[in-house]
Amino acid sequence: MITPNMHYADLKESYLFYNIAKKTKDYLSKNPNKKLYRMGIGDVSLPLCDAVIKELHSAVEDQAVKERFHGYMPECGAAFLREAIAEYYRNRGVILSPDEVFVSSGASDELGDILDLFDRSSSCLVIEPAYPAYVDANIIAGREILHLSSSQDNGFLPEPNDETKADIIYICSPNNPTGAVFTKEKLQNWVDFANRNGSIILFDAAYEAFIEDESLPHSIFELKGADTCSIEICSLSKTAGFTGTRLGYTVIPKKLERQGMNFNNMWVRNRTTKTNGVSYIIQKGGAAVFTEEGQKQIHSNIKIYKNNAKILMSALDRLGIWYCGGKNAPYIWMKCPDGMGSWEFFDYLLNEIQVVGTPGEGFGACGEGYFRFSTFGSPEDTKEAAERLIKLLG
Ligand code: PLP
Repeated sequence: MITPNMHYADLKESYLFYNIAKKTKDYLSKNPNKKLYRMGIGDVSLPLCDAVIKELHSAVEDQAVKERFHGYMPECGAAFLREAIAEYYRNRGVILSPDEVFVSSGASDELGDILDLFDRSSSCLVIEPAYPAYVDANIIAGREILHLSSSQDNGFLPEPNDETKADIIYICSPNNPTGAVFTKEKLQNWVDFANRNGSIILFDAAYEAFIEDESLPHSIFELKGADTCSIEICSLSKTAGFTGTRLGYTVIPKKLERQGMNFNNMWVRNRTTKTNGVSYIIQKGGAAVFTEEGQKQIHSNIKIYKNNAKILMSALDRLGIWYCGGKNAPYIWMKCPDGMGSWEFFDYLLNEIQVVGTPGEGFGACGEGYFRFSTFGSPEDTKEAAERLIKLLG
């Protein structure tokens, strides 16, 4: 008889979003005339920018013409998009060859699939609070998971110490859920640690485009020695509104090797075995993001989300509530007032002012007592939510 992968039984119920959906549904069924102000969503609310839409349309037309039609695309990505992404990095001083860039259907897919590169016996370190997929993908793989808690004391940006040990290290910066961003100095400590210990960092840069402080690193490859210990996973989901269109990319330097195995070569082999590439149409649309016009347009959308962040931050400043994030990230991570627990605060906001956020506890035990606001909602709802917060907590 077949033995299923019994590690699925080790997964915890996807309690966080299930519970939020249930609580909001129950509230609305009891209060059908109330409007909710949803500051919990991790999805974007603005449509794709014009430059992308134009390119998507033109790529659809290509598929209707024999001479311009595209069938299977190269498994690791179209040359035009790999080059455009390498150029995007070059503009920031990171020199990559296009075949160090792999086009993907999004960061979530890659965060799970990339684990094929590592032996099951390798341990993985997750800095918490964390995006839940890191833990779940490794539970499914049956890997040992080490949890590194962070706190307000270290600005939710912990550094390695003498006791730290891990083969695979997840670092998300700008962070979901805390919005905290590693400085070059702090991130360099992780790079040096990984090189010293032969570990590999999986750097999740899904929110890099939200960084506005020039001194902060958008890519781990801005740091010395990162090309011998890091893989960077990125996404156009939040940067350019591709959550439903699906496109991302992964950078694996050719210099990344362990025990005589080259990870770039291994990933080529993995992709050519397990995928037939991302659709031509979507890759053409994605390439438009990296044009001058596309960059201008996506940044004007990001500015709208950033203004939402400013509105929420100024409300919290007025209330004297501790928070981080918001400035260089689309998330604001606040301390729940009066020692409230994060689910207690969730219920309080839902029942009193119909504002929905995300309880910090859902991102790891050290998130208890904190709460995440997303800034991807509409400016009108964000403004109303901020006013309601001031009235309730002021
Ligand atoms: N990484 C982080 C930190 C995220 O917050 C998300 C989505 O919310 C993802 C990855 C997934 O991105 P994608 O839509 O490209 O799968």
